[in-house]
Amino acid sequence: MASYETDEPIGYQTLDGVARITLNRPLYGNAQNGQLLYALDDAFARANADDAVGAIVLAGAGKHFSSGHDIGTPGRDAEETAPRRVTLWPDHAGRPGAEAAYVREQELYLGMCRRWRAAPKPAVAAVQGACIAGGLMLAWVCDLIIASDDAWFCDPVLRMGVPGVEYFAHAFEMHPRVAREFLFLGENMSAERAHALGMVNRVVPRAELEATAQAVAQRIAALPRMGVMLAKQAFNLQEDLAGKRATMDAVFHMHHLAHAQNMMTSGSAIGGVTARDIAGKDNE
Ligand code: ZN
Repeated sequence: MASYETDEPIGYQTLDGVARITLNRPLYGNAQNGQLLYALDDAFARANADDAVGAIVLAGAGKHFSSGHDIGTPGRDAEETAPRRVTLWPDHAGRPGAEAAYVREQELYLGMCRRWRAAPKPAVAAVQGACIAGGLMLAWVCDLIIASDDAWFCDPVLRMGVPGVEYFAHAFEMHPRVAREFLFLGENMSAERAHALGMVNRVVPRAELEATAQAVAQRIAALPRMGVMLAKQAFNLQEDLAGKRATMDAVFHMHHLAHAQNMMTSGSAIGGVTARDIAGKDNE
């Protein structure tokens, strides 16, 4: 059984038309377990249902925005029954072979991220420190990304034999040439480079991150609600017509072929790679 270090893995506050949603597992770099992801879904639902909220800031408590999916904290709950469903995929717990990981990731990773991206109200990610693998997914589903100058981005999952995170938006977030480099080399990308590539909207000193994200979100929140919701959908539609959704559907299955290959050859869906292997890799 998972041993949770907190009952509040997500923080929620509202201020001047903005809902500030905070990933709140700072002890573990805001690693994403099921407990956090369902609480995050609740927070997105709450913000989108509240007429007093016009925009969302998604932030991370502590030193890092998110170290990715939880692959090894005491709160890792990947084998356990989830509290509810946000998609119509059944619960994953105890399913045989490749099915458990497949239905779990349809719900928790691909399903939830798509649901948040499709939410009517714009979200601004406020990213500091590490934004690794599953952390990228949370930043990428937001409409704007504000980074502090100490932020860095990385998708190291090819070291696990897996072709990128479940939300395969790499070549939409950056030029395909750069996306290949990002994934093949798995190097850390600085906030400065991410800004130069257009993946990040603004880079600010760490001390100004919260205020800048709030100010940007407040400007959006002050605009006419219907127009903003339509504008967001227009951009989502354009990206999907350019292949974003179809690419993600296809690559999700390659991702799960890779998980199955790992299970067959090593007995571990991620090839026995640990959080320490990832964190300990100096790839600067
Ligand atoms: Zn996966």
